[in-house]
Order: sequence, then structure tokens, then C-alpha cells
Amino acid sequence: MYKLVPNFSLKDHNSFGVDAGASYWLTLTSPDSWKEAIARYPHLLQEERLIIGGGTNLLFLSDYDGLIIGTDICGYSIAYQDSTIVDITVGSGVDWDDFVAYCVENGWYGVENLSLIPGKVGAAPVQNIGAYGAEAASVIHCVDGINLDTCEPECYSHDQCRFSYRSSIFKEKLSGKFMITAVTFRLKKQGEVDSSYGDMKRIITDLGEPNLLNLRRAVIQIRESKLPDPRKVGNAGSFFKNPVVTEEVAWALEELLPGLPVYQLSEGYVKIGAGFLIEKAGWKGVQMGHAAVHDRQALVLVNRGGATGQDIFELSLAIQKDIFEKYGVALEREVQVIE
Ligand SMILES: Cc1cc2nc3c(=O)[nH]c(=O)nc-3n(C[C@H](O)[C@H](O)[C@H](O)COP(=O)(O)OP(=O)(O)OC[C@H]3O[C@@H](n4cnc5c(N)ncnc54)[C@H](O)[C@@H]3O)c2cc1C
Repeated sequence: MYKLVPNFSLKDHNSFGVDAGASYWLTLTSPDSWKEAIARYPHLLQEERLIIGGGTNLLFLSDYDGLIIGTDICGYSIAYQDSTIVDITVGSGVDWDDFVAYCVENGWYGVENLSLIPGKVGAAPVQNIGAYGAEAASVIHCVDGINLDTCEPECYSHDQCRFSYRSSIFKEKLSGKFMITAVTFRLKKQGEVDSSYGDMKRIITDLGEPNLLNLRRAVIQIRESKLPDPRKVGNAGSFFKNPVVTEEVAWALEELLPGLPVYQLSEGYVKIGAGFLIEKAGWKGVQMGHAAVHDRQALVLVNRGGATGQDIFELSLAIQKDIFEKYGVALEREVQVIE
């Protein structure tokens, strides 16, 4: 089953709330839907295409002249379990945080630190979502989907997904070519919660025992205090990635900017806080037209109402230029810009 709509408004389908349109919108409700739609409308194969989940990591600069493919493939099924692990297969159209809540309710460990990240399950492997010291890659067992060119199903094992910091094969080589229909997660039935990030431990202590539910509550509490709710203020979370630099570069920056957050990576390399750089450069709360830097979290750009994609994009370019000139650091976008 599928649903095809021409001249579709994307305003309610991107968390920036940008008013853009698309030539066609196709919703897939089962892994076979793409084949069925192409059999009926073969011209769709010639269209430019973009796969969409909840639209919470996208910035549309203008109307999209092509086909947008969404997923409404839902449901959970247990692929395997024993006394220590459970492999659960989840439809790509399931809301990510509903899935996290489901795991916490069942006492399964692995995704609790990723509570309240907006979007759908199908997008989680794409940019290897991460927060509070955890990444989706550490629990993704395999990814099922459809090769949109051949219309055939394919499955990618964990290693074939080529996960890295906020990226994977789905964001690189397979971008626009592979529609994820289901993700299988391998979760633990016993474990300990990881509350080592920031002031999480203190918040959990205030809530009670360090268990799955309290960790989820703590993450939700921190996120709600720091991040704007996209249903109220248009945004796409962190606009830029935390830059990866050599230790020498980080040491020099720390001299200039005491308190710079630095996270150790592999030998010789560290990740530094992009939000800190943007804040120190004086951008927090700055508004350009209808777009602005959020006043509590400098890594988040917001639509103050009526901003176009271009307004938000121009603000992001001005920030990138300034950070490079001031600190010699090239900020890379985390949000995907759709031209
Ligand atoms: C307030 C806020 C907070 C956020 N916090 C975080 C955070 O802590 N950590 C984090 O990592 N991200 C965060 N994000 C970004 C965003 O929530 C994630 O990237 C999320 O996974 C995007 O999901 P989505 O369904 O909205 O995907 P979309 O934005 O619709 O798409 C994102 C990418 O995935 C592709 N895609 C989507 N679905 C599929 C599919 N089924 N098959 C193939 N490709 C697909 C799209 O083509 C696109 O390239 C935040 C966003 C907001 C608004």
C-alpha cells in the first residue's frame, strides 16, 4: 500500500517549519509499496528524490522539485532473544522516542541515553544519532530496506553500515538510493545505566535509584531545559557538528577559551564543543531577519516565525565564516540542507 499526493506542502513535515512544497509526496506503508507505486507510476523513477522521516534534521532552501518518499511502516517484532539479549526489529515509521520508551518499559538496555531525540526509527542509522555519551551504532544489529533503483530488498549488517560520528553509508554512498524499512536493534536484558555524562549522575541521584526509568527521566529533564521544543519554536537541534581537531589545536584553543569542552577520541584527536565556540564568538541569541541563534543553546538555530530556509541558511553561513576567522575552526553542518 502507498499514498501519492502531488503538490504537497512540507510546512508540517520539517521541524524548522519552513514553508516549502514538493512536486510529489509518496508514503510507503509496507516494504512492497515502492515496487507497487513504480509499477503504477513508472515516471516517478525519473524524478529527483529525497527520503524523509520526521523532517527534524532537514533545511529546505526552496520548493523541492521532485519526489519525497516518507515511511509509515510501523510495528515491532522480536527476531531473537535469550536470557541476556533481545534483537528487536522496528518499522522505520515508528517514532524514535516511542521506541525508546518501549525498551525502557521492557527493561532493555541500550537506547535510554537517546531519549527524546525527535524523528523516526528509520533515520536513526542514517546519521548514527547520538547524545549523552551514546550512539545508535552501538545497538544497531542490521538495517533492512529497499534499493530504490532495483526495487529489491537489501539488508546491511552492522559492519556494512560503516557507522562513524553522525554518519553512515546511508548518509554517504546510499543517500537517496536506499529506503530503510526496518532496523534491528540488539539490546541487553541486564546492565547498568551510563550516567557518566555531564551532570546526569546528580540529577539521577535526586530522582532516586540509578535505573533505566530514572536515566530516561534525567535525559528528558536535561533536554527539555536546554533545547527548544520544535512544536513551539522551529529548529532542527544542533545545526553544526562538534569539530574534530588535533590535540595541539585544542590546546591552543583552550588557552584562548578557558573551559572549552574537549572530548578525547582516538590517539591525537579530540572533539571540541561547537556550541561553546559559537557562544564565545558572541552569537547566542543573535537574530538575522526571522532566523536566530537560540538564546539558551548556541548550537541551535531557530525560526522566530516566518523565516525562510534561505534566512536560516544565511545565518549559518555567517556563523561558519566568523568562527573560522576567529578560531581557525571549520564548522561542518549536521543538518542536511536541501536545495
Ligand atoms: C530539538 C531537536 C533535538 C535533536 N537532538 C538530536 C540529538 O541529540 N542527537 C542527534 O543525533 N540528532 C538530534 N536531532 C536531529 C534529528 O532528530 C535526528 O537526526 C533524527 O534521527 C532525524 O529523524 P527524522 O525522522 O526527522 O529524519 P529526517 O530529518 O526526515 O531525515 C534525516 C536524514 O535521514 C534520511 N532518512 C530519513 N528516513 C529515512 C529512511 N527511512 N530511509 C533512508 N533514509 C532516511 C533523510 O533522507 C535525511 O538524510 C535533534 C533534532 C531536533 C529538532
